[in-house]
Amino acid sequence: QAKKAGKNTFEFFYSKERHSLIDPLTMEMDLHKAVERDELVLHYQPKVSLKSGKIVGAEALIRWFHPQIGMISPAEFIPIAEETGLILPIGEWALYTACRQVKEWMKKGLSIVISVNISTTQFVQSNFVTSIERILTETQVEPQCLEIEITESVSADIEHTITTLHGLKKLGVRISIDDFGTGFSSLNYLKQFPVDTLKIDQSFIRELYKNPNDETIVKTIISMAHNLNLTVVAEGIETKEQLVFLQQYFCDEGQGYLISKPLSVGELQAAIDKVESIVEQNGISQDKNE
Ligand code: C2E
Ligand code: MG
Ligand code: MG
Ligand code: MG
Repeated sequence: QAKKAGKNTFEFFYSKERHSLIDPLTMEMDLHKAVERDELVLHYQPKVSLKSGKIVGAEALIRWFHPQIGMISPAEFIPIAEETGLILPIGEWALYTACRQVKEWMKKGLSIVISVNISTTQFVQSNFVTSIERILTETQVEPQCLEIEITESVSADIEHTITTLHGLKKLGVRISIDDFGTGFSSLNYLKQFPVDTLKIDQSFIRELYKNPNDETIVKTIISMAHNLNLTVVAEGIETKEQLVFLQQYFCDEGQGYLISKPLSVGELQAAIDKVESIVEQNGISQDKNE
């Protein structure tokens, strides 16, 4: 199906899983159907407190299970979704799905913050704040349980960005700047943004213990965040050395393959159930009124 290779001059996408090629036009057509065919799935990567080691949140990361190609990573299809406007229904689906999931977890007694990635195209819609409000109402999720992750690229229209961020703050949702340090926003803008969290880009974490410049950058971001009263998160923690470095410099939270890769709902549930049953079997028995 997805094999029009060689017929045109487009860039082709390579799927590691199935060693097949898919051209952007085919991908675009298939992506149109993906939402209604239920081919999109959210995986959840735990986010832990680097102080307590406890899970404090999870980041929703989208995956597309294409019927012929297998799993396609968001790095491949999100850019196409953005170009075609499909990011709007897909982004809305992701917000709904993540909120419904966090509600499920809440019912089971697991209280965590869910982080959802928001594309700039979504963020700049004039109805973005009202759509978040509607989703929170419909799913009955407490606003402080939802964190939206935006990138520095939203700040192109500074006035609109500030208005939107204040609208979100008024709702009570949390705001995180993802991939921090890779964008072009000035610190003067940052000062005006009512954000809660800076998430240090994984490119700076990768070279900790190897590249002194990256160590300096990471230390600087952490202390700047703390001086601005912001929470600071490190993404892409893969080694023990990186973890120790971040703890030594008081980075608040972390995510990465060392801690956990993104998990399906079932996998995350299994991990939670395992912990619960250990507590149930070994701990003091709770009264079971519920
Ligand atoms: P991101 O938000 O910066 O997410 C971090 C990416 O790093 C994820 O890739 C995650 O799986 C990966 N990662 C986590 N831990 C490690 C690690 O220890 N080492 C390495 N090398 N990578 C790690 P993923 O899931 O492929 O997502 C890529 C990007 O796609 C995300 O970057 C985000 O910008 C975008 N994305 C994902 N889901 C959505 C969504 O629902 N909506 C929008 N608009 N964008 C999304
Ligand atoms: Mg993110
Ligand atoms: Mg990131
Ligand atoms: Mg990224």
